[in-house]
Amino acid sequence: MSNSPSPPPGSQDDDTLAAALATQPVSGPEGPRLALKVDVDTYRGTRDGVPRLMEALQRHGAGATFLFSLGPDHTGRAIRRAFRPGFARKVQRSSVLSHYGLTTLLYGTLLPGPDIGRRCEAQLRAVRDAGFEVGVHTWDHVRWQDGVAGASEAWTRHEMEAACNRFADIFKEAPRVHGAAGWQMNRHAWRLTQRLGFDYCSDTRGTHPFVPLYEAEIMGCPQLPTTLPTLDELIGLDGLGPENVADHLLRLTARAPPTGHVYTLHAELEGGRLAPVFDALLAGWKAQGWTLVSLRDYFDTLSARDLPRHEVAMAAVPGRSGTLALQGGEFLAQFA
Ligand SMILES: [Zn+2]
Repeated sequence: MSNSPSPPPGSQDDDTLAAALATQPVSGPEGPRLALKVDVDTYRGTRDGVPRLMEALQRHGAGATFLFSLGPDHTGRAIRRAFRPGFARKVQRSSVLSHYGLTTLLYGTLLPGPDIGRRCEAQLRAVRDAGFEVGVHTWDHVRWQDGVAGASEAWTRHEMEAACNRFADIFKEAPRVHGAAGWQMNRHAWRLTQRLGFDYCSDTRGTHPFVPLYEAEIMGCPQLPTTLPTLDELIGLDGLGPENVADHLLRLTARAPPTGHVYTLHAELEGGRLAPVFDALLAGWKAQGWTLVSLRDYFDTLSARDLPRHEVAMAAVPGRSGTLALQGGEFLAQFA
């Protein structure tokens, strides 16, 4: 938090970009790659949204990575965020109630929060068995999103280990990929991405894959940042709504950077009322020549040893309240 935040995606200076392009061959014979990362935040999203998304992805022949919330659904407790600046505006803009449903908004307040990993064990395994990559989003989404910024090492380790242990229980293997809830991280979480043995993580927003440094400390686990805005960030801003948001995103992907793209979608949105938008996106991306893949297939096209090192810092992005983990400038590039 101490140093200046990174430039937002798209405003990177030419030198950094040139260096990144020189070391980042993502385009293979199948054309440029766009990785689809599905964040699954709630019980309802897991139960209803995930099967709908699998059907859409299979219909379009697209790969994807599903990142699960594996513990209790305490979505209702997010109501505390209503007292933060910016949140009320976002609720109004993106009509939270219509996407999440009243029951979900009461979990952890008036209703006990259902244990997603226990209740949806069969559904989770069905995702893996259908050939999609699966990984860890979080243990308790609301607890992580609201608590991790100032949390201790013990708190952070407890949350990440609880999610990993539940994942191993369900899938009989350790998770290889982590994508932090709400793009919220702290120093301990960065270190744990390395210690918990993930092959790569997608905890950040940025422009291209990199090895992260947090306050000059190298974290050994590569980051595959989300490079495009999410639907909930776009809808309600600049005249964008469900009817034209797909066209807007497709304009952003019309020219393919050699490092490809990572798009984050939500089981509660693209797997719910915004399903037609997702359908239009998948069709549009295929028409633009993108190969739609999981984070694993995206990562496998990279030369992990040659990834540039970039600082990470917490900073704001348009359309989202608070700060999140952002890819910063290239670190000591002149000595590399
Ligand atoms: Zn999430």
